[in-house]
Amino acid sequence: MIIQENIPDYLIIAEKVIQSSDWKQALDSVLDVVRSVFIFDNLALFITEKVASGENEIVYARAVGRGQTAGADTAWGTEIATQVMKRNEIIVQEPTSKQTDDDRLINAYLLGLPLGTSSGVQGAAVFVRFGGPAYTAEHILHARFIAAQFAGVFERKKLIEDIRALEEARRLLALQDDFIATISHELRTPLGFIKGYSTTLLRQDTEWDEATRREFLTIIEEEADHLTTLIENVLESARLQSNTLPMKFQAARLDTLIFDSATRAQARFKDMHVDLEFAVRPVVQIDTVRISQVLGNLFSNAAKYAPGTPISITVTEKSGIYRICFADSGPGIQPEHLPNLFKRFYRVPGQGGAGSGLGLFICEKIIEAHGGKISVESEAGMGTVFLIDLPFSQSTHFAGD
Ligand code: ADP
Repeated sequence: MIIQENIPDYLIIAEKVIQSSDWKQALDSVLDVVRSVFIFDNLALFITEKVASGENEIVYARAVGRGQTAGADTAWGTEIATQVMKRNEIIVQEPTSKQTDDDRLINAYLLGLPLGTSSGVQGAAVFVRFGGPAYTAEHILHARFIAAQFAGVFERKKLIEDIRALEEARRLLALQDDFIATISHELRTPLGFIKGYSTTLLRQDTEWDEATRREFLTIIEEEADHLTTLIENVLESARLQSNTLPMKFQAARLDTLIFDSATRAQARFKDMHVDLEFAVRPVVQIDTVRISQVLGNLFSNAAKYAPGTPISITVTEKSGIYRICFADSGPGIQPEHLPNLFKRFYRVPGQGGAGSGLGLFICEKIIEAHGGKISVESEAGMGTVFLIDLPFSQSTHFAGD
Protein backbone atom coordinates (compact mmCIF):
# COMPACT_ATOMS: atom_id res chain seq x y z
CA MET A 1 0.00 0.00 0.00
CA ILE A 2 1.27 3.49 -0.84
CA ILE A 3 1.17 5.88 2.09
CA GLN A 4 -0.04 9.31 0.93
CA GLU A 5 -0.03 11.07 4.30
CA ASN A 6 2.69 13.32 5.65
CA ILE A 7 4.43 13.87 2.35
CA PRO A 8 7.37 16.13 3.19
CA ASP A 9 7.37 19.59 1.63
CA TYR A 10 10.72 19.07 -0.11
CA LEU A 11 9.23 16.11 -2.00
CA ILE A 12 6.17 18.10 -3.06
CA ILE A 13 8.46 20.90 -4.24
CA ALA A 14 10.74 18.57 -6.20
CA GLU A 15 7.71 16.97 -7.87
CA LYS A 16 6.16 20.32 -8.76
CA VAL A 17 9.39 21.49 -10.39
CA ILE A 18 9.57 18.39 -12.55
CA GLN A 19 5.88 18.32 -13.41
CA SER A 20 5.42 21.97 -14.40
CA SER A 21 5.58 22.50 -18.12
CA ASP A 22 6.13 26.22 -17.82
CA TRP A 23 8.93 27.78 -15.77
CA LYS A 24 6.81 30.55 -14.26
CA GLN A 25 4.24 28.01 -13.19
CA ALA A 26 7.06 25.94 -11.64
CA LEU A 27 8.27 28.96 -9.64
CA ASP A 28 4.72 29.72 -8.51
CA SER A 29 4.24 26.13 -7.35
CA VAL A 30 7.50 26.16 -5.39
CA LEU A 31 6.52 29.40 -3.67
CA ASP A 32 3.03 28.15 -2.84
CA VAL A 33 4.58 25.27 -0.92
CA VAL A 34 7.48 27.10 0.74
CA ARG A 35 5.37 29.88 2.16
CA SER A 36 4.31 27.57 4.96
CA VAL A 37 7.92 27.03 6.08
CA PHE A 38 9.64 30.23 5.00
CA ILE A 39 8.27 33.69 5.73
CA PHE A 40 8.92 36.59 3.36
CA ASP A 41 7.10 39.64 1.99
CA ASN A 42 8.63 39.90 -1.44
CA LEU A 43 10.84 37.90 -3.70
CA ALA A 44 12.67 38.98 -6.84
CA LEU A 45 14.69 36.73 -9.12
CA PHE A 46 17.43 38.31 -11.18
CA ILE A 47 18.92 36.45 -14.08
CA THR A 48 21.75 37.31 -16.39
CA GLU A 49 23.11 34.93 -18.96
CA LYS A 50 26.22 36.95 -19.67
CA VAL A 51 27.79 38.03 -16.41
CA ALA A 52 30.24 40.20 -18.34
CA SER A 53 27.46 42.49 -19.62
CA GLY A 54 26.74 43.31 -15.99
CA GLU A 55 23.07 43.72 -16.73
CA ASN A 56 20.78 41.78 -14.48
CA GLU A 57 17.25 41.36 -15.54
CA ILE A 58 14.42 40.73 -13.11
CA VAL A 59 12.68 37.77 -14.65
CA TYR A 60 10.27 37.03 -11.86
CA ALA A 61 8.93 38.96 -8.91
CA ARG A 62 6.38 37.90 -6.42
CA ALA A 63 4.89 39.72 -3.49
CA VAL A 64 3.14 37.79 -0.76
CA GLY A 65 3.42 40.30 2.04
CA ARG A 66 0.99 42.96 3.12
CA GLY A 67 0.08 45.50 0.48
CA GLN A 68 3.13 44.92 -1.66
CA THR A 69 3.17 44.84 -5.44
CA ALA A 70 5.75 42.60 -6.97
CA GLY A 71 6.88 44.67 -9.94
CA ALA A 72 7.08 48.10 -8.39
CA ASP A 73 8.88 47.07 -5.28
CA THR A 74 11.79 45.16 -6.69
CA ALA A 75 14.15 48.16 -6.66
CA TRP A 76 15.16 47.18 -3.11
CA GLY A 77 16.69 43.99 -4.48
CA THR A 78 18.84 45.26 -7.35
CA GLU A 79 21.87 46.29 -5.33
CA ILE A 80 22.10 43.16 -3.20
CA ALA A 81 21.46 40.98 -6.28
CA THR A 82 24.44 42.57 -8.03
CA GLN A 83 26.62 41.94 -4.98
CA VAL A 84 25.45 38.32 -4.66
CA MET A 85 26.25 37.62 -8.32
CA LYS A 86 29.61 39.37 -8.16
CA ARG A 87 30.75 37.55 -5.02
CA ASN A 88 28.78 34.38 -5.70
CA GLU A 89 27.82 34.03 -2.06
CA ILE A 90 24.87 34.41 0.26
CA ILE A 91 24.44 37.92 1.62
CA VAL A 92 22.23 38.97 4.53
CA GLN A 93 21.48 42.65 4.91
CA GLU A 94 19.66 43.91 7.96
CA PRO A 95 18.66 47.45 8.90
CA THR A 96 21.43 49.19 10.81
CA SER A 97 19.23 51.19 13.14
CA LYS A 98 15.78 50.12 14.13
CA GLN A 99 13.04 52.48 13.02
CA THR A 100 9.64 52.81 14.59
CA ASP A 101 6.91 50.32 13.72
CA ASP A 102 5.32 52.79 11.31
CA ASP A 103 8.46 52.69 9.23
CA ARG A 104 8.49 48.94 8.82
CA LEU A 105 8.84 49.33 5.05
CA ILE A 106 12.20 51.02 5.58
CA ASN A 107 13.27 48.18 7.88
CA ALA A 108 14.00 45.82 5.04
CA TYR A 109 15.64 42.52 6.00
CA LEU A 110 17.24 41.26 2.82
CA LEU A 111 18.54 37.81 2.00
CA GLY A 112 20.29 37.29 -1.33
CA LEU A 113 21.31 33.89 -2.67
CA PRO A 114 23.24 33.07 -5.83
CA LEU A 115 21.53 31.02 -8.56
CA GLY A 116 24.29 29.40 -10.58
CA THR A 117 23.85 26.49 -12.96
CA SER A 118 26.20 24.45 -15.11
CA SER A 119 24.66 25.75 -18.36
CA GLY A 120 25.78 29.30 -17.74
CA VAL A 121 22.69 30.79 -16.11
CA GLN A 122 23.76 33.30 -13.48
CA GLY A 123 21.41 35.01 -11.15
CA ALA A 124 20.28 35.83 -7.65
CA ALA A 125 17.20 35.28 -5.56
CA VAL A 126 16.47 38.11 -3.15
CA PHE A 127 13.95 37.76 -0.35
CA VAL A 128 12.78 40.66 1.73
CA ARG A 129 11.02 40.81 5.04
CA PHE A 130 9.76 44.27 5.85
CA GLY A 131 10.16 44.86 9.57
CA GLY A 132 11.79 41.47 10.20
CA PRO A 133 12.13 38.99 11.75
CA ALA A 134 15.86 38.53 11.16
CA TYR A 135 16.98 35.42 9.22
CA THR A 136 18.13 32.55 11.45
CA ALA A 137 20.60 29.89 10.32
CA GLU A 138 17.67 27.55 9.79
CA HIS A 139 15.80 30.11 7.68
CA ILE A 140 18.88 30.52 5.51
CA LEU A 141 19.08 26.76 5.03
CA HIS A 142 15.44 26.76 3.89
CA ALA A 143 16.18 29.63 1.54
CA ARG A 144 19.17 27.75 0.10
CA PHE A 145 16.95 24.79 -0.64
CA ILE A 146 14.40 27.05 -2.35
CA ALA A 147 17.15 28.81 -4.33
CA ALA A 148 18.46 25.44 -5.51
CA GLN A 149 14.96 24.63 -6.83
CA PHE A 150 14.85 27.98 -8.64
CA ALA A 151 18.25 27.31 -10.17
CA GLY A 152 16.92 23.93 -11.36
CA VAL A 153 13.91 25.61 -12.95
CA PHE A 154 16.14 28.11 -14.79
CA GLU A 155 18.49 25.35 -15.85
CA ARG A 156 15.56 23.51 -17.43
CA LYS A 157 14.30 26.72 -19.03
CA LYS A 158 17.73 27.39 -20.54
CA LEU A 159 18.06 23.82 -21.82
CA ILE A 160 14.62 23.96 -23.41
CA GLU A 161 15.53 27.26 -25.10
CA ASP A 162 18.84 25.81 -26.30
CA ILE A 163 17.05 22.80 -27.76
CA ARG A 164 14.56 25.08 -29.53
CA ALA A 165 17.40 27.19 -30.97
CA LEU A 166 19.15 24.05 -32.17
CA GLU A 167 15.97 22.75 -33.77
CA GLU A 168 15.46 26.08 -35.54
CA ALA A 169 19.08 26.06 -36.75
CA ARG A 170 18.63 22.49 -38.00
CA ARG A 171 15.39 23.43 -39.75
CA LEU A 172 17.13 26.33 -41.48
CA LEU A 173 20.02 24.12 -42.53
CA ALA A 174 17.60 21.58 -43.98
CA LEU A 175 15.83 24.41 -45.83
CA GLN A 176 19.15 25.62 -47.19
CA ASP A 177 20.06 22.12 -48.34
CA ASP A 178 16.68 21.86 -50.07
CA PHE A 179 17.22 25.28 -51.54
CA ILE A 180 20.62 24.38 -52.97
CA ALA A 181 19.14 21.25 -54.51
CA THR A 182 16.17 23.19 -55.91
CA ILE A 183 18.19 26.13 -57.11
CA SER A 184 20.79 23.95 -58.85
CA HIS A 185 17.96 22.19 -60.63
CA GLU A 186 16.28 25.50 -61.46
CA LEU A 187 19.51 26.97 -62.83
CA ARG A 188 20.39 23.87 -64.78
CA THR A 189 17.07 23.60 -66.60
CA PRO A 190 17.19 26.95 -68.45
CA LEU A 191 20.94 26.61 -68.93
CA GLY A 192 20.33 23.21 -70.56
CA PHE A 193 17.84 24.79 -72.99
CA ILE A 194 20.14 27.69 -73.82
CA LYS A 195 23.11 25.41 -74.38
CA GLY A 196 21.06 22.85 -76.38
CA TYR A 197 19.39 25.35 -78.73
CA SER A 198 22.49 27.45 -79.32
CA THR A 199 24.58 24.33 -80.08
CA THR A 200 21.86 23.23 -82.51
CA LEU A 201 21.82 26.62 -84.22
CA LEU A 202 25.58 26.63 -84.55
CA ARG A 203 25.78 23.20 -86.20
CA GLN A 204 27.74 23.46 -89.44
CA ASP A 205 26.02 20.53 -91.13
CA THR A 206 22.45 21.88 -90.97
CA GLU A 207 20.77 24.89 -92.51
CA TRP A 208 17.82 26.22 -90.45
CA ASP A 209 15.00 28.09 -92.09
CA GLU A 210 14.16 31.54 -90.74
CA ALA A 211 11.04 30.42 -88.79
CA THR A 212 12.93 27.65 -86.97
CA ARG A 213 15.85 29.96 -86.20
CA ARG A 214 13.44 32.50 -84.69
CA GLU A 215 11.69 29.80 -82.69
CA PHE A 216 15.00 28.56 -81.23
CA LEU A 217 16.23 32.07 -80.51
CA THR A 218 12.94 32.91 -78.78
CA ILE A 219 13.36 29.89 -76.52
CA ILE A 220 16.93 30.97 -75.75
CA GLU A 221 15.77 34.48 -74.93
CA GLU A 222 12.90 33.30 -72.71
CA GLU A 223 15.14 30.90 -70.83
CA ALA A 224 17.78 33.61 -70.34
CA ASP A 225 15.03 35.88 -68.93
CA HIS A 226 13.93 33.09 -66.67
CA LEU A 227 17.50 32.67 -65.43
CA THR A 228 17.83 36.39 -64.79
CA THR A 229 14.60 36.49 -62.77
CA LEU A 230 15.70 33.51 -60.75
CA ILE A 231 19.10 34.99 -59.93
CA GLU A 232 17.54 38.37 -59.12
CA ASN A 233 15.08 36.67 -56.77
CA VAL A 234 17.86 34.84 -54.95
CA LEU A 235 19.90 38.03 -54.55
CA GLU A 236 16.89 40.07 -53.59
CA SER A 237 15.69 37.62 -50.99
CA ALA A 238 19.15 37.72 -49.39
CA ARG A 239 19.06 41.53 -49.30
CA LEU A 240 15.53 41.55 -47.93
CA GLN A 241 16.59 39.07 -45.29
CA SER A 242 19.36 41.43 -44.19
CA ASN A 243 17.11 44.53 -44.48
CA THR A 244 19.29 46.28 -47.02
CA LEU A 245 16.80 46.74 -49.83
CA PRO A 246 15.86 50.42 -50.06
CA MET A 247 12.29 51.44 -50.87
CA LYS A 248 11.38 54.51 -52.90
CA PHE A 249 7.98 55.73 -51.79
CA GLN A 250 5.91 58.01 -53.98
CA ALA A 251 2.26 58.94 -54.33
CA ALA A 252 0.46 56.62 -56.76
CA ARG A 253 -3.06 55.53 -57.64
CA LEU A 254 -3.51 51.99 -56.35
CA ASP A 255 -6.24 51.09 -58.87
CA THR A 256 -4.12 52.26 -61.83
CA LEU A 257 -1.17 50.26 -60.61
CA ILE A 258 -3.31 47.11 -60.25
CA PHE A 259 -4.92 47.70 -63.64
CA ASP A 260 -1.48 48.00 -65.31
CA SER A 261 -0.20 44.84 -63.58
CA ALA A 262 -3.31 42.92 -64.65
CA THR A 263 -2.91 44.11 -68.25
CA ARG A 264 0.73 42.96 -68.28
CA ALA A 265 -0.21 39.61 -66.74
CA GLN A 266 -2.95 39.01 -69.33
CA ALA A 267 -0.52 39.81 -72.12
CA ARG A 268 1.95 37.32 -70.65
CA PHE A 269 -0.49 34.54 -69.74
CA LYS A 270 -2.85 34.28 -72.68
CA ASP A 271 -5.61 32.25 -71.00
CA MET A 272 -5.74 34.44 -67.90
CA HIS A 273 -8.98 36.22 -67.10
CA VAL A 274 -8.89 38.97 -64.45
CA ASP A 275 -11.90 40.68 -62.85
CA LEU A 276 -11.22 44.02 -61.18
CA GLU A 277 -13.49 45.76 -58.70
CA PHE A 278 -12.47 48.94 -56.92
CA ALA A 279 -14.68 50.14 -54.07
CA VAL A 280 -12.09 52.88 -53.57
CA ARG A 281 -9.45 54.34 -55.88
CA PRO A 282 -6.96 55.68 -53.38
CA VAL A 283 -3.73 57.57 -53.85
CA VAL A 284 -1.16 55.85 -51.65
CA GLN A 285 2.47 56.36 -50.71
CA ILE A 286 4.12 53.24 -52.10
CA ASP A 287 7.16 51.97 -53.92
CA THR A 288 5.37 51.37 -57.20
CA VAL A 289 8.06 49.07 -58.63
CA ARG A 290 7.96 46.86 -55.55
CA ILE A 291 4.17 46.70 -55.28
CA SER A 292 4.00 45.84 -59.01
CA GLN A 293 6.55 43.11 -58.26
CA VAL A 294 4.27 41.72 -55.51
CA LEU A 295 1.28 41.68 -57.88
CA GLY A 296 3.43 40.20 -60.66
CA ASN A 297 4.40 37.39 -58.29
CA LEU A 298 0.79 36.69 -57.37
CA PHE A 299 -0.18 36.65 -61.06
CA SER A 300 2.61 34.25 -62.01
CA ASN A 301 1.73 32.00 -59.04
CA ALA A 302 -1.91 31.99 -60.16
CA ALA A 303 -0.77 31.09 -63.70
CA LYS A 304 1.41 28.25 -62.31
CA TYR A 305 -0.80 26.84 -59.56
CA ALA A 306 -4.32 27.79 -60.68
CA PRO A 307 -3.96 27.80 -64.47
CA GLY A 308 -6.95 28.81 -66.56
CA THR A 309 -9.10 29.80 -63.58
CA PRO A 310 -10.56 33.30 -63.28
CA ILE A 311 -8.84 35.77 -60.98
CA SER A 312 -10.72 38.40 -59.02
CA ILE A 313 -9.06 41.46 -57.50
CA THR A 314 -10.91 43.89 -55.25
CA VAL A 315 -9.78 46.97 -53.35
CA THR A 316 -11.73 48.02 -50.28
CA GLU A 317 -11.15 50.31 -47.34
CA LYS A 318 -11.77 49.73 -43.65
CA SER A 319 -10.56 51.47 -40.48
CA GLY A 320 -7.48 53.17 -41.85
CA ILE A 321 -6.48 50.29 -44.10
CA TYR A 322 -6.76 49.59 -47.81
CA ARG A 323 -7.23 45.92 -48.57
CA ILE A 324 -6.31 44.27 -51.86
CA CYS A 325 -7.99 40.91 -52.16
CA PHE A 326 -6.42 38.69 -54.85
CA ALA A 327 -8.40 35.50 -55.39
CA ASP A 328 -8.02 32.62 -57.81
CA SER A 329 -10.35 29.65 -58.28
CA GLY A 330 -7.62 27.04 -58.48
CA PRO A 331 -7.09 23.83 -56.51
CA GLY A 332 -6.25 25.74 -53.29
CA ILE A 333 -3.73 24.80 -50.63
CA GLN A 334 -4.02 22.25 -47.82
CA PRO A 335 -4.36 24.04 -44.45
CA GLU A 336 -1.18 22.55 -42.95
CA HIS A 337 0.95 24.42 -45.50
CA LEU A 338 -0.59 27.86 -44.99
CA PRO A 339 1.53 28.90 -41.97
CA ASN A 340 4.74 28.18 -43.93
CA LEU A 341 3.82 29.73 -47.25
CA PHE A 342 5.67 33.03 -46.72
CA LYS A 343 8.83 31.37 -45.40
CA ARG A 344 11.95 31.62 -47.50
CA PHE A 345 12.32 28.59 -49.83
CA TYR A 346 9.02 27.05 -48.79
CA ARG A 347 7.14 25.17 -51.49
CA VAL A 348 4.18 22.88 -50.98
CA PRO A 349 5.80 19.42 -51.06
CA GLY A 350 5.18 17.35 -54.16
CA GLN A 351 4.50 20.52 -56.13
CA GLY A 352 5.55 20.26 -59.74
CA GLY A 353 6.53 23.15 -61.96
CA ALA A 354 9.32 25.66 -61.76
CA GLY A 355 9.77 27.58 -58.54
CA SER A 356 12.16 28.39 -55.76
CA GLY A 357 9.87 29.22 -52.83
CA LEU A 358 11.18 32.79 -52.81
CA GLY A 359 8.27 34.65 -54.41
CA LEU A 360 5.92 34.90 -51.43
CA PHE A 361 8.80 35.53 -49.03
CA ILE A 362 9.78 38.54 -51.15
CA CYS A 363 6.14 39.68 -51.32
CA GLU A 364 5.81 39.59 -47.54
CA LYS A 365 9.01 41.57 -46.96
CA ILE A 366 7.94 44.24 -49.46
CA ILE A 367 4.49 44.59 -47.91
CA GLU A 368 6.00 44.74 -44.42
CA ALA A 369 8.33 47.52 -45.61
CA HIS A 370 5.15 49.45 -46.44
CA GLY A 371 3.91 48.94 -42.89
CA GLY A 372 1.37 46.47 -44.22
CA LYS A 373 0.54 42.80 -43.96
CA ILE A 374 0.00 39.99 -46.45
CA SER A 375 -1.91 36.85 -45.54
CA VAL A 376 -3.42 33.87 -47.28
CA GLU A 377 -6.70 32.05 -46.98
CA SER A 378 -7.33 28.83 -48.83
CA GLU A 379 -9.18 25.58 -48.75
CA ALA A 380 -8.39 22.58 -50.88
CA GLY A 381 -10.62 22.74 -53.96
CA MET A 382 -11.90 26.23 -53.13
CA GLY A 383 -9.21 28.47 -54.61
CA THR A 384 -6.69 30.69 -52.88
CA VAL A 385 -7.07 34.25 -51.63
CA PHE A 386 -4.13 36.54 -50.87
CA LEU A 387 -5.01 39.57 -48.74
CA ILE A 388 -2.77 42.61 -48.76
CA ASP A 389 -3.48 45.24 -46.11
CA LEU A 390 -1.83 48.62 -46.60
CA PRO A 391 -2.14 51.37 -44.00
CA PHE A 392 -3.28 54.82 -45.20
CA SER A 393 0.04 56.55 -44.63
CA GLN A 394 3.48 55.09 -45.06
CA SER A 395 6.79 56.78 -44.57
CA THR A 396 10.04 56.15 -46.36
CA HIS A 397 12.11 53.49 -44.71
CA PHE A 398 14.10 50.37 -45.49
CA ALA A 399 12.65 46.92 -45.96
CA GLY A 400 12.18 45.15 -42.68
CA ASP A 401 12.60 48.33 -40.60
P1 ADP B 1 7.44 29.34 -55.93
O1 ADP B 1 6.23 29.66 -56.73
O2 ADP B 1 8.71 29.79 -56.56
O3 ADP B 1 7.48 27.92 -55.50
P2 ADP B 1 6.32 31.10 -53.88
O4 ADP B 1 6.98 31.60 -52.62
O5 ADP B 1 5.81 32.11 -54.83
O6 ADP B 1 7.40 30.14 -54.56
O7 ADP B 1 5.14 30.16 -53.45
C1 ADP B 1 5.32 29.20 -52.44
C2 ADP B 1 4.39 28.03 -52.64
O8 ADP B 1 3.04 28.43 -52.39
C3 ADP B 1 4.37 27.49 -54.06
O9 ADP B 1 5.40 26.56 -54.25
C4 ADP B 1 2.99 26.85 -54.12
O10 ADP B 1 3.09 25.55 -53.58
C5 ADP B 1 2.13 27.68 -53.18
N1 ADP B 1 1.28 28.62 -53.90
C6 ADP B 1 1.54 29.93 -54.15
N2 ADP B 1 0.52 30.53 -54.79
C7 ADP B 1 -0.44 29.58 -54.95
C8 ADP B 1 -1.76 29.58 -55.53
N3 ADP B 1 -2.28 30.68 -56.10
N4 ADP B 1 -2.46 28.41 -55.50
C9 ADP B 1 -1.94 27.31 -54.93
N5 ADP B 1 -0.71 27.24 -54.37
C10 ADP B 1 0.03 28.36 -54.38
